[in-house]
Amino acid sequence: MKPSPRLEVNLAKLHHNASHLVRTFGSRGVSVLGVCKLTQGSQEVANTLLDAGVCALGDSHIEHIESLRRAGVVAEMTLLRSPMRSQIQRVVASADVSYNTEIGVIRGLSHEALRTQRRHGVVLMVELGDLREGIMPADLLPVVQETLALPNVYLRGIGTNLACRSGVSPDAHNMAALSELADTIEQAHGIQLDTISGGNSANVLWGLGGHALGRINHLRLGEVLLLGCEPLHRHTVDGLYTDVFGLVAEVIESKRKPSVPWGTLAQTAFGVVPVCQDQGWVMQTILAVGRQDIDPMGLCAPQGMTIVGASSDHLVVVTHGKALNIGDEVAFGLNYSALLVAMTSPLVAKVVVSDNSADWHFLH
Ligand SMILES: *Cc1c(COP(=O)(O)O)cnc(C)c1O
Repeated sequence: MKPSPRLEVNLAKLHHNASHLVRTFGSRGVSVLGVCKLTQGSQEVANTLLDAGVCALGDSHIEHIESLRRAGVVAEMTLLRSPMRSQIQRVVASADVSYNTEIGVIRGLSHEALRTQRRHGVVLMVELGDLREGIMPADLLPVVQETLALPNVYLRGIGTNLACRSGVSPDAHNMAALSELADTIEQAHGIQLDTISGGNSANVLWGLGGHALGRINHLRLGEVLLLGCEPLHRHTVDGLYTDVFGLVAEVIESKRKPSVPWGTLAQTAFGVVPVCQDQGWVMQTILAVGRQDIDPMGLCAPQGMTIVGASSDHLVVVTHGKALNIGDEVAFGLNYSALLVAMTSPLVAKVVVSDNSADWHFLH
């Protein structure tokens, strides 16, 4: 019997999503780096993305890159988050490339690469308005110059990241700014940059929009491969599966109850005073999953069911029509936030499924 609660992943559907986008962007001269930070160093997810044709793997945690290496996954591996100073030795040992914004860290990478006789690629991230990581454009050239002069590191390219902190959308304007910076660097130093990385899943609408992509030849995609939707408006992208993942939880109580609480109302366990609409008596069901395992706001209930509340270990739903039985299982869709929590919770089993329900195993 499959364990509960569990996160189910259909690797065939993930493969479809990744190969569809690799082909579509490939025909536009853009290669796709597969971002696997959400799946915490899962070798099966990594190998599925590589089979589908991604040019490299990327993760924000060196720990995940180290587990992929230990599992024998063969790929170029990129650390997407600026390396911590305290992890420079591990970064040079396990990652081929890292994304950087601090010259002091790049000096440290160079020093360590020289010491261990390795070569480490540096992509410089440029701030283009979202106010997360990035060198201000006016400060870029001196950093390029020093990086080019340092031993055992090489300048792989430049990149930017939008939409994550402030929701700034990739558009013709900021993407043209990145292209111009690439031209400026190449002209100033007589070099050719390998990678001009335009961004993450939020770039998909821009990238599929049919206009010229300028110098952008690389995107780093995570969410759109895993969830089949773009993160700016959370619309489904044509041709992709949106049900690569599902969360299954088990019914532990099912009773007719009033829809409004009684007694004196104060804060709940999570600090809010609940507002309830009186709908008379309802069929209320409790599932054995909670905030420790999922983001309840990020779950999508099946037809005929509404999520009405959650605490750390209980998810409360109301069913319309037929009642659920104790021991029944319910499958929910997940958004990025719910997937992140479910993936991270040790209390949620991660299970690989296929169209044949008898055929399953734990995710490696
Ligand atoms: C997480 C991350 C990505 C991937 O983002 P998605 O929205 O999942 O596609 C790309 N680049 C960087 C720097 C990231 O941290």
